[in-house]
Amino acid sequence: MAKVLRNAILVDVDPIGVEPGSLRIDGGCIADRDAHVDPRPGDEDVDCAGAVVMPGLINAHAHLYSALAAGMPPPPTPPANFREILEHIWWRLDRALDAESIATSARIGGLDALRCGTTTLIDHHASPECIARSLDFIEQGVADVGLRAVLCYETTDRNGQAGRRAGIDENRRYLAKCREARDGRFAALAGAHAAFTLEDEALDALSALADEFATGVHIHVAEDPCDERYCRQRYGTSLIDRLADYGILRPESIFAHGTHLDTGAVARVNEVGTAVAHNPRSNMNNAVGYASVTAYRCPVLLGTDGIGSDMFAEARYAWFKARDAGAGITPDDVLGMLAASARRASVALGVTLGKLDVGAAADVVITDYRPATPLTGDNLGGHFIFGMGSHHVKDVIINGRWAMRDRVIVNCDEPAMRRHAVPVASALWTRMASVECQRTAPSQ
Ligand SMILES: [Zn+2]
Repeated sequence: MAKVLRNAILVDVDPIGVEPGSLRIDGGCIADRDAHVDPRPGDEDVDCAGAVVMPGLINAHAHLYSALAAGMPPPPTPPANFREILEHIWWRLDRALDAESIATSARIGGLDALRCGTTTLIDHHASPECIARSLDFIEQGVADVGLRAVLCYETTDRNGQAGRRAGIDENRRYLAKCREARDGRFAALAGAHAAFTLEDEALDALSALADEFATGVHIHVAEDPCDERYCRQRYGTSLIDRLADYGILRPESIFAHGTHLDTGAVARVNEVGTAVAHNPRSNMNNAVGYASVTAYRCPVLLGTDGIGSDMFAEARYAWFKARDAGAGITPDDVLGMLAASARRASVALGVTLGKLDVGAAADVVITDYRPATPLTGDNLGGHFIFGMGSHHVKDVIINGRWAMRDRVIVNCDEPAMRRHAVPVASALWTRMASVECQRTAPSQ
């Protein structure tokens, strides 16, 4: 049944715009947009009561596998630096993941995203003891909730050559599956952890995989200074040169973080046009410093790096952290990150996301945000950062279908899923407690 969303404030971020209006949604697309759209016989008539209606948001760097980490016990030894955060926490959690906890993480992470109006996730997954078909388990969890996702497996050498081969194989299998399906719901990238856990042979294999599927590599880059330092110590070259030499620096790639690239390296990224995913809350949480996003002329995306999928909150922190760091960004720059994220996801999925235009995918968020101050395109950024939040998300449509209606999840039994997740998380934490710390990263 087609839907007509009437009496809305239509908010666009690409380009920025605000206007009263209505939408007609038919099938998976926006079929009409005008000041007034009259419902046709049989259409579902939705009165938005003068509230903001906007495109679904995109989390451009997610780790769904961390969705069951909230409240988990602290590591036996407190991590003293970034390397130890990986060794003591995340590399113990990911080795405790099995098929059930992967799918459950994806469901819970998906539910949390949907409640925040986030409709597409560009995910980066690791589960060294359960690699084969792990991306299918995530896909199933995400599909249960009704979101779209761009998935990859983070290839690494930290678990030996067999682990590397399994990571490459899982990426290849899922890339082939998505190329065959091309359904606009799921897509794939070649996934890699970070250069400091990848031998040259692994970078070669990833580059060949990206060539084979005409895609990019989703990889952490210079999240912490150790990435660059290790590269220079071990390989005698800069991180950006190594990534370029092995074909990882390419327009289709996504570099997560880019926190500690120097001016010359940033210029190389800008020249190629590789997207950089900014994750301000994670950077603060790991105390790795501020990614100076104003230096980047390439697309700057916005991700959470595993801290949920609330893009309202992430945008707010992108603003606060930039202010705190003395970086000269504007609220429109933050909206630009949301727009760039949607463009990158659109390329991957082959559908138009992040727009309320006729012909765009009908991924639409209906809020109950009725501004108490004037709202125009000129001050939308200010409303987004200081006025709006995920608590205003009331209804979500994905691919033309209700995914959340009046704050109730439509596609699945959310309370049952959350009840089911508790013992799964508990068992995951128990397994994690017996996983030793892995010391394969470079010295600080
Ligand atoms: Zn990450």
